[in-house]
Amino acid sequence: MPFDTLIHNATLLTCNNTFDILHGGWVGVSGGKIQALGTGPAPGRAEVREPIDARGGILMPGLVNTHTHLPMTLFRGLADDLPLNAWLEDHIFPAERAVITPESVRWGTLLACAEMALSGTTTCCDGYFFEDSVAEAVEAFGLRAMLGQGVIDHPAPGVPDPTGNLTAARRFCQRWRERAKTIRASVFCHSPTTCSMETLVGAKRLCEEFGLLFQIHAAETRWENEHLRTTRGASPVRLLEHAGVLDERTLLAHCVWVDADDIAVIAGRRAKVSHNPESNMKLGSGVAPVVEMHAAGITIGLGTDGCASNNDVDLFQAMDMTAKLHKVVNLDPTVLSAETVIRMATIDGARALGLDGEIGSIEIGKQADLIVIDTRKPHLTPIHHPASAVVYAAKGSDVQMVMVAGRLLVKDRRVATIDLEEVMDQVALIRRAFKNRA
Ligand SMILES: [Zn+2]
Repeated sequence: MPFDTLIHNATLLTCNNTFDILHGGWVGVSGGKIQALGTGPAPGRAEVREPIDARGGILMPGLVNTHTHLPMTLFRGLADDLPLNAWLEDHIFPAERAVITPESVRWGTLLACAEMALSGTTTCCDGYFFEDSVAEAVEAFGLRAMLGQGVIDHPAPGVPDPTGNLTAARRFCQRWRERAKTIRASVFCHSPTTCSMETLVGAKRLCEEFGLLFQIHAAETRWENEHLRTTRGASPVRLLEHAGVLDERTLLAHCVWVDADDIAVIAGRRAKVSHNPESNMKLGSGVAPVVEMHAAGITIGLGTDGCASNNDVDLFQAMDMTAKLHKVVNLDPTVLSAETVIRMATIDGARALGLDGEIGSIEIGKQADLIVIDTRKPHLTPIHHPASAVVYAAKGSDVQMVMVAGRLLVKDRRVATIDLEEVMDQVALIRRAFKNRA
């Protein structure tokens, strides 16, 4: 049986259990899934309508961004070089009140999708407001996503009365849990300091009712850690444990301020962690103890966080940064090898979202969420080790082809599913409107 699509002439970085790398490899895709893979001449190549020649490039699973706020592309570079609380309260929250509407969320999300796809991300895990608009935009673009309606005990865009925050989240989950194959609903609680115990428990119950992932920012800053220890007598992680929200379907974004006791709790509950080194560095939050969390057996995926604190959603940059950051803070170049970091950005990220049975590696039966890195570049020549090239030398802009569930989203570095020029024009208009109001 000929494949719908055949990608050949590639170095396959499978990211499977044994991290197999196949030179001169090919992958056959039909019905949106990986049907076969191998090396040498691909079977039935002559019958495939449009075989994709990777030109000797690296073919790997699409990257998984485990923590982001897609519409925040609108605030890229709006307020830099500030501590988290001042950044959030004096700049981001007022900006959200001024310009966040279902319409602006749509354009900001489409921009984020284009940026992610063009830098090799095929799945993201998002939490924001007007999440319906986020979901519609992500679906229109064609990326795979875990999307959570934001829950916070403050007036928020689309939820002016916080007593309605869980009702809004419920409505989103009901609407999106089975609507699109590539979209999964989730609930995103803002943090243990901005959500009451009652809200946290209610949100987790909602997740349990529908079988969904519960996401929350946790232990991000020293202030949060000290504030909760002083006022509530517990660390952020302990507080979440007391609330009963920590289990294998919980994703904790950041975990910078966690001690050995917190790490043992996270590991014991089998909760997952999203590591966002660039956001933590830029906001001066600190360095998450990734090496210690790995040693405790915790699944850790990589994230970019929102564009306002990074200021991009490029996971290639995040991989490079992750590998180097932990070497320097541990004064040990052997920690977080290129292979480990690629796993974090692929299969471990998928596992953190509960999607490792479907995505995160190139294996027969998995979804055809694939990217090709063009290695005919000076900075990628020569390649002694493909994993090293991916983490330490490749850029997001080297991604040549992107497919999700067998559908081409990027071909020859061009976005195939939306009019990107229009999106950039619309975002520029939003920025102008925002400037006028400010
Ligand atoms: Zn975040």
